Amino acid sequence: MPKYPNNISSKLPKVGTTIFTVMSALANEHKAINLSQGFPNFDVNPKLVSLVNQKMKSGLNQYAPMQGVPQLREVLCEKMEKLYGAKYHPDKEINITSGGTQAIYSALTAIVREGDEVIVIEPAYDCYVPAIELNGGISIYVQLKSPHHKIDWNDVKRVMSSHTKVIMINTPHNPMGSVMTADDMKQLEKLVKGTNIIIISDEVYEHIIFDGLKHESVCKYPRLAERSFIIYSFGKTYHATGWKIGYCFAPENLMSEFRKVHQFIVFCSNTPIQYALADYIKECDDYNELSEFYQEKRDFFLKQIKDSRFKFIPASGSYFQLLNYSAITNEKDTDYAIRLTKENGVASIPTSVFYHKPIDNKLLRFCFAKTDDILKKAAEKLCKI
Ligand code: GLN
Repeated sequence: MPKYPNNISSKLPKVGTTIFTVMSALANEHKAINLSQGFPNFDVNPKLVSLVNQKMKSGLNQYAPMQGVPQLREVLCEKMEKLYGAKYHPDKEINITSGGTQAIYSALTAIVREGDEVIVIEPAYDCYVPAIELNGGISIYVQLKSPHHKIDWNDVKRVMSSHTKVIMINTPHNPMGSVMTADDMKQLEKLVKGTNIIIISDEVYEHIIFDGLKHESVCKYPRLAERSFIIYSFGKTYHATGWKIGYCFAPENLMSEFRKVHQFIVFCSNTPIQYALADYIKECDDYNELSEFYQEKRDFFLKQIKDSRFKFIPASGSYFQLLNYSAITNEKDTDYAIRLTKENGVASIPTSVFYHKPIDNKLLRFCFAKTDDILKKAAEKLCKI
């Protein structure tokens, strides 16, 4: 087809297809074990599936309220209070979204104007920066400190200015698997005190945290909660990433701006799934068992590869484990991830792609949200290298 109009200048000139799509496609093409894109291969709890089915059969198939169905908003507010002692109003301070990514996009769009600066901690999940740039914002970068991938708050302080509109944080962290501590939260509190800075806190892996660590949500800190959008995802918690459903909490003044944007991005999210989740969560708090479940997975995978040439520090949270391959080759992580997929049959995600200027720490990210047979097979392949 002729290329008309031929004067389009891309709004995202540096952006290609996301690494998750690229690596999953490569894994399929080479029939490799796909530990790249993060998704579980476990079934959704049959009770939840049958609830969705029931809701569909009972005719709940038309638009949901724009904010999300009231029953679901209510159980989620109860959950926030039970887990973190945070009080949110179900009518005014929560919105159901079509996944975490959409919630992040809506929050940024509601807040960021041309020329506003947004502090992004790198490596950063790949939807943050394009969403900032599409809104005319400027990303200001701070890198996590190796080897434990911690935030150096002095670095954050150094880049803060009167133009700083938002600080984005993510705990448990994707792709690094590190978690923020109570001390991190207190430092952040000190930094933003007396400013109008808004926080966007990506907490989609809140229930996947290991070794007795506790999830530090910004909502536990009233001085942070009062200025924060907090993003959650059902996909990670209920093994249902394809349902694309999540939610966002924020104080009323922020949430009302969020809703103005949200209603014209998706209007509302999937109706029967929202009703099903409301009933399920009311009855069942199985999210409390998720950390233990995934810690066993992490430990199983690490035990299988302990004699390989890969080096690692066990992940503290999320369902991703980093492996350092510097004892094997000096190749760029993007090249090695491709070769590992093609020649060794295991697909992973190179971490350098999560930086604005690639920083190659020789770290590949492997998703361990898989049944033991898959993890075992992948580990056997990795051990042969
Ligand atoms: N969150 C998933 C990951 O980090 C990927 C989601 C996606 O493919 N967009 O792997």
